[in-house]
Order: sequence, then structure tokens, then C-alpha cells
Amino acid sequence: MNENLQIRTFKKTGHIEVICGSMFSGKTEELIRRIRRAEIAKQRVKVFKPSIDNRYSEFEIVSHNEQSYPSEMVKDAEEILEKSFDVEVIGIDEAQFFDNNLINICQQLADSGKRVIVAGLDQDYRAFPFDPMPQLLSIAEYITKTLAVCVVCGAPANRTQRISDSNEHILVGAKNYYEARCRLHHVINIETENEISTDK
Ligand code: ADP
Ligand code: MG
Repeated sequence: MNENLQIRTFKKTGHIEVICGSMFSGKTEELIRRIRRAEIAKQRVKVFKPSIDNRYSEFEIVSHNEQSYPSEMVKDAEEILEKSFDVEVIGIDEAQFFDNNLINICQQLADSGKRVIVAGLDQDYRAFPFDPMPQLLSIAEYITKTLAVCVVCGAPANRTQRISDSNEHILVGAKNYYEARCRLHHVINIETENEISTDK
């Protein structure tokens, strides 16, 4: 065996995949589909979500059409790194709820040869980019943008409409607070737009 071929055989290249889109667009569904395929391939997998998202379960990620997969809740991105040394494939849901350290953590995991699949909202309810998703999109090897169905007209929906009066930047909820809307039917409350607190 020549030397180059030997290096290729022993060294495994990692990568980052990002699944982004509005609420109800199928991000969690797609993350679960990829993780299940990795399991079929007998790879060691682990799925994480931020502790802020305990909407349906503390121990699973759950999609809006009730698919689920076991997950661990973590307080921050650093904890993902600490708990991933023994796995080959890492799934991260609701990535927009982590701070910008997630970018560094995903890079470290991918650099060490792991497959990192990150799912999250690319826009907040005002249709502004939702950190750290823009940065993750720019460093990822693979990107998938999922679209929901606009509840007003049935067109492909790229945005998330908040249907509650709150102007908190982060308001965790599902059908009680949010709807999928297309560009035409997405409405932004201009008065509250500048009062947003962006604390994470
Ligand atoms: P996300 O993680 O992007 O919020 P999920 O994967 O949890 O989305 O849920 C996707 C599922 O939500 C769809 O397969 C569908 O059954 C359901 N759903 C409910 N409302 C909508 C909508 N307006 N557009 C598309 N899917 C919807
Ligand atoms: Mg989801």
C-alpha cells in the first residue's frame, strides 16, 4: 500500500451539516431521519438540545408530527463537546438557542473527524438572522433549507409569524405562539421591533 493511500485509510474527515428553515418546516423530522440512517449504518450517535427547550420532553427531541428520538439536554455548547468523545455522529436541535460558542464547538467536533448535524431556525420571528445560524451556515460543508406551508395561502413558507403579543426575543412555544407564513403574509410589528432584548 502506498503512503498516501494509507493516510486516507486511517484518517477520517469530519464535517458539518446544517438543516435550517422556519418553524414547522420539518427540521427536526429531517434531523431524526438522518440520525436513524446513521444508526442503521451502525454508527455511534448522540443527539443534544438546549435546556431551554423542554416543550414536549426532557429526554427526546420531538417533531410537530410526533416523531421522536432520545436526546440529552445540555446547558451550553461546551457540554456537547464533553459528552461527544465516544460518538461518531452528533445531532444538535434548536441550535439558535445556543450562544456563539456553538460555532467553535462544531468546528472542533468536525475537525476531530465527527459528523455534526445541526438543525435550527435561521430567522427569528421578525425575519432577522438568528445567531449563531448564519455563522454555522457559512462554515458548513452541507446545507439544507426546509420550507413549511403558509397557513394563510398555502405557499411555501420561509418565515415564522408570532401570534402572541410578547416582544421577548426568545419565547419558547409551538402552535400556541407561532405560525408558518410566506413572505407576503408575514407581518412585523414595527413599534416593538426596536425594543427587543436579545439576551441568551
Ligand atoms: P420544525 O422542527 O422545522 O419546527 P418539525 O420537524 O417539528 O418542524 O415538524 C414538521 C411537521 O409539522 C410536518 O411534517 C407537518 O406534519 C407539521 N406541520 C404543522 N403545520 C405545518 C405547516 N404550516 N407547514 C408544514 N408542516 C406543518
Ligand atoms: Mg424542530
